[in-house]
Amino acid sequence: MKVDQLMVGMMGVCCYILSCEKTAKAAIVDPGGDEQRILDAVSESGLDVKYIIATHGHPDHVCGNRTIQEATGAAIVMHEADDDFFSQDQVKNYFSMLGLEASPPTDTRVKEGDTIDFGEVSLKVIHTPGHTPGGICLYDKPDLITGDSLFVGGIGRTDFPGGSHSELIHSIEQKLLNLPPDTVVWPGHGYGGSRSTIEEERNSNPFLR
Ligand SMILES: [Zn+2]
Ligand SMILES: [Zn+2]
Repeated sequence: MKVDQLMVGMMGVCCYILSCEKTAKAAIVDPGGDEQRILDAVSESGLDVKYIIATHGHPDHVCGNRTIQEATGAAIVMHEADDDFFSQDQVKNYFSMLGLEASPPTDTRVKEGDTIDFGEVSLKVIHTPGHTPGGICLYDKPDLITGDSLFVGGIGRTDFPGGSHSELIHSIEQKLLNLPPDTVVWPGHGYGGSRSTIEEERNSNPFLR
Protein backbone atom coordinates (compact mmCIF):
# COMPACT_ATOMS: atom_id res chain seq x y z
CA MET A 1 0.00 0.00 0.00
CA LYS A 2 1.20 3.49 -0.83
CA VAL A 3 0.57 6.18 1.79
CA ASP A 4 0.40 9.86 0.83
CA GLN A 5 0.01 12.35 3.65
CA LEU A 6 -1.48 15.83 3.08
CA MET A 7 -1.93 18.49 5.77
CA VAL A 8 -5.34 20.06 5.15
CA GLY A 9 -7.84 22.56 6.52
CA MET A 10 -7.79 25.16 9.27
CA MET A 11 -7.31 22.56 11.98
CA GLY A 12 -4.22 20.99 10.45
CA VAL A 13 -5.72 17.55 9.85
CA CYS A 14 -3.51 14.88 8.29
CA CYS A 15 -5.49 13.51 5.36
CA TYR A 16 -4.24 10.30 3.78
CA ILE A 17 -4.53 8.95 0.28
CA LEU A 18 -4.04 5.18 0.54
CA SER A 19 -3.63 3.31 -2.71
CA CYS A 20 -2.98 -0.10 -4.20
CA GLU A 21 0.04 0.29 -6.46
CA LYS A 22 -1.05 -2.57 -8.67
CA THR A 23 -4.66 -1.63 -9.39
CA ALA A 24 -4.70 2.15 -8.62
CA LYS A 25 -7.76 1.63 -6.40
CA ALA A 26 -7.65 4.01 -3.44
CA ALA A 27 -9.20 5.29 -0.24
CA ILE A 28 -9.11 8.81 1.20
CA VAL A 29 -8.92 9.09 4.98
CA ASP A 30 -10.13 12.23 6.81
CA PRO A 31 -10.47 14.85 4.04
CA GLY A 32 -10.73 17.74 6.50
CA GLY A 33 -10.47 20.62 4.02
CA ASP A 34 -8.50 21.63 0.91
CA GLU A 35 -10.67 19.23 -1.08
CA GLN A 36 -9.44 20.49 -4.46
CA ARG A 37 -5.82 19.83 -3.51
CA ILE A 38 -6.79 16.29 -2.47
CA LEU A 39 -8.72 15.73 -5.70
CA ASP A 40 -5.81 17.09 -7.77
CA ALA A 41 -3.42 14.67 -6.06
CA VAL A 42 -5.81 11.81 -6.77
CA SER A 43 -6.21 12.65 -10.45
CA GLU A 44 -2.49 13.29 -10.97
CA SER A 45 -1.87 9.75 -9.76
CA GLY A 46 -4.76 8.36 -11.81
CA LEU A 47 -6.41 6.81 -8.76
CA ASP A 48 -9.89 5.34 -8.57
CA VAL A 49 -11.23 6.28 -5.13
CA LYS A 50 -13.51 3.61 -3.65
CA TYR A 51 -13.83 4.79 -0.05
CA ILE A 52 -13.80 7.91 2.09
CA ILE A 53 -12.91 6.69 5.56
CA ALA A 54 -13.50 8.70 8.75
CA THR A 55 -11.13 7.74 11.58
CA HIS A 56 -13.84 9.36 13.72
CA GLY A 57 -16.81 11.66 13.37
CA HIS A 58 -15.32 15.01 14.45
CA PRO A 59 -16.24 17.79 12.03
CA ASP A 60 -12.63 18.77 11.27
CA HIS A 61 -12.06 15.25 9.89
CA VAL A 62 -15.31 14.80 7.90
CA CYS A 63 -16.00 18.33 6.60
CA GLY A 64 -14.66 17.51 3.12
CA ASN A 65 -16.64 14.28 2.74
CA ARG A 66 -19.42 15.84 0.69
CA THR A 67 -17.16 17.45 -1.91
CA ILE A 68 -14.96 14.38 -2.22
CA GLN A 69 -17.98 12.09 -2.53
CA GLU A 70 -19.59 14.28 -5.20
CA ALA A 71 -16.37 14.19 -7.22
CA THR A 72 -15.54 10.50 -6.85
CA GLY A 73 -18.75 8.64 -5.98
CA ALA A 74 -16.82 6.87 -3.21
CA ALA A 75 -18.61 5.27 -0.24
CA ILE A 76 -18.31 6.96 3.17
CA VAL A 77 -17.11 4.60 5.90
CA MET A 78 -17.39 5.18 9.66
CA HIS A 79 -17.47 3.04 12.79
CA GLU A 80 -21.04 2.28 13.84
CA ALA A 81 -20.60 3.89 17.29
CA ASP A 82 -19.50 7.24 15.82
CA ASP A 83 -22.17 7.04 13.13
CA ASP A 84 -24.75 6.75 15.92
CA PHE A 85 -23.11 9.25 18.26
CA PHE A 86 -22.64 12.06 15.74
CA SER A 87 -26.21 11.61 14.39
CA GLN A 88 -27.71 12.79 17.70
CA ASP A 89 -29.19 16.29 17.52
CA GLN A 90 -27.55 17.60 20.68
CA VAL A 91 -24.13 16.42 19.51
CA LYS A 92 -24.70 17.97 16.07
CA ASN A 93 -25.66 21.27 17.71
CA TYR A 94 -22.58 21.22 19.92
CA PHE A 95 -20.27 20.84 16.97
CA SER A 96 -22.15 23.02 14.47
CA MET A 97 -20.65 26.08 16.20
CA LEU A 98 -17.37 25.18 14.51
CA GLY A 99 -19.04 26.13 11.23
CA LEU A 100 -17.68 23.11 9.36
CA GLU A 101 -19.80 21.21 6.87
CA ALA A 102 -21.40 18.00 8.16
CA SER A 103 -20.75 14.68 6.43
CA PRO A 104 -23.38 13.12 4.16
CA PRO A 105 -24.83 9.88 5.62
CA THR A 106 -22.46 6.98 6.19
CA ASP A 107 -22.69 4.32 3.45
CA THR A 108 -20.73 1.57 5.18
CA ARG A 109 -20.65 1.09 8.96
CA VAL A 110 -17.68 -0.85 10.28
CA LYS A 111 -16.61 -2.39 13.58
CA GLU A 112 -13.59 -4.06 15.20
CA GLY A 113 -12.05 -6.73 13.00
CA ASP A 114 -13.74 -5.69 9.75
CA THR A 115 -11.59 -5.09 6.71
CA ILE A 116 -11.87 -2.36 4.09
CA ASP A 117 -10.65 -3.79 0.79
CA PHE A 118 -9.60 -1.98 -2.39
CA GLY A 119 -7.44 -3.56 -5.05
CA GLU A 120 -4.96 -5.78 -3.24
CA VAL A 121 -5.06 -3.67 -0.08
CA SER A 122 -6.94 -4.98 2.93
CA LEU A 123 -7.14 -2.46 5.75
CA LYS A 124 -7.95 -3.91 9.14
CA VAL A 125 -10.29 -1.87 11.35
CA ILE A 126 -9.06 -1.52 14.94
CA HIS A 127 -11.67 0.07 17.24
CA THR A 128 -9.92 2.49 19.62
CA PRO A 129 -12.62 4.32 21.62
CA GLY A 130 -11.66 7.14 23.98
CA HIS A 131 -11.21 10.25 21.83
CA THR A 132 -14.70 9.47 20.50
CA PRO A 133 -16.87 6.37 21.07
CA GLY A 134 -16.26 5.03 17.57
CA GLY A 135 -12.71 6.07 16.78
CA ILE A 136 -10.82 3.63 14.58
CA CYS A 137 -7.27 2.98 13.49
CA LEU A 138 -6.54 1.43 10.09
CA TYR A 139 -3.82 -1.18 9.83
CA ASP A 140 -2.10 -2.69 6.83
CA LYS A 141 1.31 -3.92 7.86
CA PRO A 142 3.55 -1.93 8.39
CA ASP A 143 1.29 1.14 8.23
CA LEU A 144 -1.08 2.28 10.96
CA ILE A 145 -3.35 5.29 10.49
CA THR A 146 -4.16 6.44 14.03
CA GLY A 147 -6.54 9.41 13.61
CA ASP A 148 -6.82 11.37 16.86
CA SER A 149 -6.21 8.33 19.07
CA LEU A 150 -2.40 8.49 18.98
CA PHE A 151 -0.15 11.37 17.88
CA VAL A 152 3.62 11.66 17.69
CA GLY A 153 4.44 12.20 21.37
CA GLY A 154 0.80 12.75 22.28
CA ILE A 155 -2.71 11.36 22.49
CA GLY A 156 -6.13 12.72 21.52
CA ARG A 157 -8.15 15.12 23.66
CA THR A 158 -10.82 13.51 25.77
CA ASP A 159 -12.71 16.59 26.93
CA PHE A 160 -15.18 16.63 24.03
CA PRO A 161 -18.59 14.90 24.35
CA GLY A 162 -18.16 11.13 24.22
CA GLY A 163 -14.49 11.26 25.24
CA SER A 164 -12.91 9.15 27.99
CA HIS A 165 -9.27 9.39 29.01
CA SER A 166 -9.13 5.98 30.69
CA GLU A 167 -10.78 4.35 27.69
CA LEU A 168 -8.33 6.00 25.30
CA ILE A 169 -5.29 4.86 27.30
CA HIS A 170 -6.76 1.35 27.45
CA SER A 171 -7.34 1.33 23.67
CA ILE A 172 -3.79 2.45 22.91
CA GLU A 173 -2.16 0.07 25.36
CA GLN A 174 -4.27 -2.97 24.49
CA LYS A 175 -4.61 -2.57 20.75
CA LEU A 176 -1.80 -0.41 19.35
CA LEU A 177 1.34 -0.75 21.48
CA ASN A 178 1.34 -4.53 20.94
CA LEU A 179 1.72 -4.15 17.17
CA PRO A 180 5.21 -4.81 15.76
CA PRO A 181 7.76 -2.18 16.93
CA ASP A 182 8.52 -1.03 13.39
CA THR A 183 4.85 -0.27 12.66
CA VAL A 184 4.67 3.22 11.10
CA VAL A 185 2.31 5.54 12.99
CA TRP A 186 0.51 8.03 10.73
CA PRO A 187 -1.33 10.47 13.04
CA GLY A 188 -4.49 12.55 12.51
CA HIS A 189 -2.67 15.82 13.23
CA GLY A 190 0.99 16.74 12.90
CA TYR A 191 1.58 18.11 16.41
CA GLY A 192 4.98 16.75 17.39
CA GLY A 193 5.71 15.38 13.94
CA SER A 194 4.06 13.87 10.93
CA ARG A 195 4.96 10.24 11.54
CA SER A 196 6.49 7.91 14.08
CA THR A 197 6.72 4.23 14.97
CA ILE A 198 5.11 2.10 17.63
CA GLU A 199 8.54 1.55 19.18
CA GLU A 200 9.18 5.31 19.48
CA GLU A 201 5.77 5.93 21.02
CA ARG A 202 6.14 3.04 23.44
CA ASN A 203 9.52 4.37 24.57
CA SER A 204 9.03 8.12 24.59
CA ASN A 205 5.35 9.17 24.50
CA PRO A 206 4.92 11.00 27.85
CA PHE A 207 1.20 10.14 28.00
CA LEU A 208 1.83 6.41 27.92
CA ARG A 209 3.85 5.76 31.04
ZN1 LIG B 1 -10.95 14.46 16.82
ZN1 LIG C 1 -8.71 16.03 14.90
